[in-house]
Amino acid sequence: MADFKTHTTVAAALSAPLAATVAMSGFASPQEAVVYAAAGTLGGLLPDIDADDSIAIRLVFRLFGALAAGLIVLFWMTTLPHWQVLLLAAAGFLLVLYPIRWLFEQYTIHRGLLHSLLANLLFASVSLLMAYHLFKLGARASWGVGGFVFFGATVHLLLDEIYSVDLSGMRIKRSFGSALKLTDWSQPLASLGLLLVSMLGIWLAPEAGAWRGAFVWLPDLAPVEWFERGLESLRLLWS
Ligand SMILES: [Zn+2]
Repeated sequence: MADFKTHTTVAAALSAPLAATVAMSGFASPQEAVVYAAAGTLGGLLPDIDADDSIAIRLVFRLFGALAAGLIVLFWMTTLPHWQVLLLAAAGFLLVLYPIRWLFEQYTIHRGLLHSLLANLLFASVSLLMAYHLFKLGARASWGVGGFVFFGATVHLLLDEIYSVDLSGMRIKRSFGSALKLTDWSQPLASLGLLLVSMLGIWLAPEAGAWRGAFVWLPDLAPVEWFERGLESLRLLWS
């Protein structure tokens, strides 16, 4: 299994040049490219938040705690006395950091449902909505953030899978196949829930039209044709 440092380094080393390329193609301002690179790096940590007491879970819950505190300050700044706002913000921070994290740990198993491509879709749609509604980024930049979070998180899964192959002896460790998966098939109901929440997130998202030009190299096909092409390539793979 790749450790925290490897995951951060690889996610950053791949996200930063990709973000720079996106900026050079005119789909991000230099500032947005920095945000994209950060989103990709953060995405690279997300799959391991189901490992209790990992650096990833500590970091992510601290970030969410700070975010909760910040929102509390913004919300009550003008209506409550300062000391009360500060007290509320501290309470919000601690609430996320301890009881909510504890609850989260009770309901997650390492390399379970949250360590999958489906979970990456959820991470992406949640960060897209947060970028748009909380951080007030535009539609284009918000989709960029979502895309980079998905990219970073998928790099994480790939990296774990690569690490499960012992390169020197080409021996495959027992963890092979547990890292990069579509979903945790032993949890069908939870998987379905995850899929529905992700779809809801994408449905609630703003228009992605600003990105249309980014994929000009893709053939212009109707969704049905895409589906047929996909089936055709699957058939070729099987035969
Ligand atoms: Zn992992």
